[in-house]
Parts: sequence; structure tokens; C-alpha cells
Amino acid sequence: MKLDKVPTPAYVVDEQALENNLRILREVKEAAGCKILLAQKCFSMFAEYPLIAKYLDGATASGLYEARLGHEEMGGENHVFSPAYRPEEIEEIASICDHVIFNSFAQLRRFGARVKEIQAKRGVQQGIGLRINPECSTQDHAIYDPCAPGSRLGVTAEDFERAVEAEPELFEQLDGLHFHTLCEQDSDALAETLKAVQERFGRWLQADSIHWLNMGGGHHITRKDYDRQLLIDLIRTVKDKYAVEVYLEPGEAVALNAGYLVTEVMDIVENHGVRTLILDASAACHMPDVLEMPYRPPLKDSGEAGEKAYTYRLSSCTCLAGDIIGDYSFDKSLAPGDRLYFEDMAIYSMVKNNTFNGMALPAIWKMDDAGDCTLVKKFGYEDFKGRLS
Ligand SMILES: *Cc1c(COP(=O)(O)O)cnc(C)c1O
Repeated sequence: MKLDKVPTPAYVVDEQALENNLRILREVKEAAGCKILLAQKCFSMFAEYPLIAKYLDGATASGLYEARLGHEEMGGENHVFSPAYRPEEIEEIASICDHVIFNSFAQLRRFGARVKEIQAKRGVQQGIGLRINPECSTQDHAIYDPCAPGSRLGVTAEDFERAVEAEPELFEQLDGLHFHTLCEQDSDALAETLKAVQERFGRWLQADSIHWLNMGGGHHITRKDYDRQLLIDLIRTVKDKYAVEVYLEPGEAVALNAGYLVTEVMDIVENHGVRTLILDASAACHMPDVLEMPYRPPLKDSGEAGEKAYTYRLSSCTCLAGDIIGDYSFDKSLAPGDRLYFEDMAIYSMVKNNTFNGMALPAIWKMDDAGDCTLVKKFGYEDFKGRLS
């Protein structure tokens, strides 16, 4: 089936675009001598994990469920970071994760030795890490800034030093350090961050017992204008200087511009001269980042409001007045039954969607390089009911 026939609403992942991204990531990996993992919280379409596994080193998780998914479907290295782990889940986490990264010395103190023991039985070494907070903000989206004063994410240099001074054996448990501070950024932001990391944590990185440094995600490596050579140079410098293995764990860069959300116009209403398309896709339910971040999703064959002859406000069937995707213009006037294609919808879409208002979840499709689309999974009333009681 071709894209223009796929029943709506649907996420359609473009496998050729996905593989192009993966090829770029593999080139970077090889040139820099680092490892790259998929951050599953951004893109967990496990039907594509066998393809991803051909190019990347494994997956990283935000907790037990994603870690299980990576373990079951990806193979390769399996990492996890969570602000806190539960005592009842730590054994399973240790038995399926190669790197377990803690967010505080309290969590390390509580679980570190147990994790190490279980990992050692599996022959896994050097698997204990701590997230550090370099306190270096390089962007202005407050909700995506883990470096702001008061942040819960990562240990600051001051707290790190105080803890290790009081309990040196805590540092001895650590095999690696992790930071994640970027969001959709270029390598110049990484350069600035690495300067802060080295200033504040350089003496710890230098220790013989620290074997790896994980530089998190947010590296927009596959974006057309991203400076990949600078990234490669930065990684090589850090590897040489501190004798560490370097990990990157991008989410967006893996599936950037690799999917559509296909929707249909159900009705058109007009109020005070504003013409609104009622779509069978919703910002609130199917692309929540549009409201949360917020941003304006790219839409195929459209322009800014007023740029082309016919301008519409794009909205949905939910009750939320503010469930507005944006104002877009088109060359032709639209009518019920017309289809629209939101672009860059593989990332942070299907992992975040919900059935608010009993809205249908879009089916998940994949499209091959000949443009043929195959249904991967569809959802129905049972999926809505199944999450409620
Ligand atoms: C979100 C996140 C990532 C992936 O970020 P992208 O912006 O999708 O590249 C990686 N690591 C951690 C710890 C994260 O929280």
C-alpha cells in the first residue's frame, strides 16, 4: 500500500530515512572511536530494533520497562539511568543491564554493591555509573534544562566532592560518569559543556578507576548542518586525555525526520473568520510535544499562515480548546476527506501518545525504500479500555 492510501490516523516510519540516519551515526562512531546507543524513550518502535542493531551498539533506558524492551528486542549493550530505582526491581535491572547509572550517592550507596555482585556473576565488569551535573546551561528551553539551579538531575561538583571526602569508598564503587545536558543541539554546545565537565570533574575523570564517560543525548548529529567533525574531534580528545571509553545515547538523531503522522480532515468550522480543520489526529494525544515544548510541526505542502492562498487552523476532536497544532496555509482549499502529512513524527510521538477523550491511537506502519507501506500494529477500543478499570 502506498502512503496516500494508509488509513488514518497513522504513524508511518520511513525506513530509508531511518537507515540514512543510522549510517551517519555509524560513520561518527567509527571516526570517533566511541559507542552509540539508542535512547528508547524517544523512539521505541521495536519492530525496527533489528535494523538499528546493525548500526548501533545497543540501547539505553529510563527504567525497568525500557530496559526489558532493549534486552528483549535490541540485544547489544543495555544501559539504564533513572533518578531512582525501587528495591524490588534492582535485581532484574542488574541482571539485564550492562551499565546501571545512579542519580545520587544515596542511590549508589543503597544499590551499588548489589548491582555489582549480580553483574559480576554474568561476567559484566565496570557497570556502575553516576550522573553528574556540570551546571552548564547551553539552551533556553527551561523544561529541557537539567543544569538549572535546583535541578534534580545529576550530582553537582560541590556535592560530589563533599560526598567523596566523607565516604571515599563511594567513589571506589564507580566505573564511569554520565552527563546529559543537551537538547537538539550542535557540537559547539557539547564543546562548552565538556569544558565545564573538565573544569569541575576533571580530577575524577583522571582516576584510573573511571573507565567510561557517557555524554548523554541531545546531540542532533544527523541534522543537515550539524558539525560532525567537531564532535569527532571532541570525543577523540576526551578519550586520549582521560583514557576512557566514550558513549553517546541520542534519541532524536536516530529517527530524525524519519516518520509521518498521517491524518484526515473530518470537518471544517468557522468562527470570527478563523477556519479550523477538525482532524482525526490531535496535538494533545498524538504529538504532545507540540503543546509541551512547544513547537510547530512541519507539514508537507504547507506554508505559514497567510503565505499561501488558503489558511486554516489545525485542530482535533478532543474537548481541549487549546488542542491546536498551528495555523498553516495551502495552495488549494481543503475539504473533508483530504489528507495531511505531519513530518518528523517518528520521535517523541508514539512513545508519548495517550487516549484522552477516548481518542484512537494511530496505527504504526513502516514504509520501505520503494514507498510501500506495511502495517506493523493497529490499536482499537481494547487498548483504550485496557489501561482503565
Ligand atoms: C532524553 C535523554 C536522552 C536522549 O535525548 P535526545 O534529545 O532524544 O537525543 C539520552 N539520555 C538521557 C539521560 C535522556 O534523558
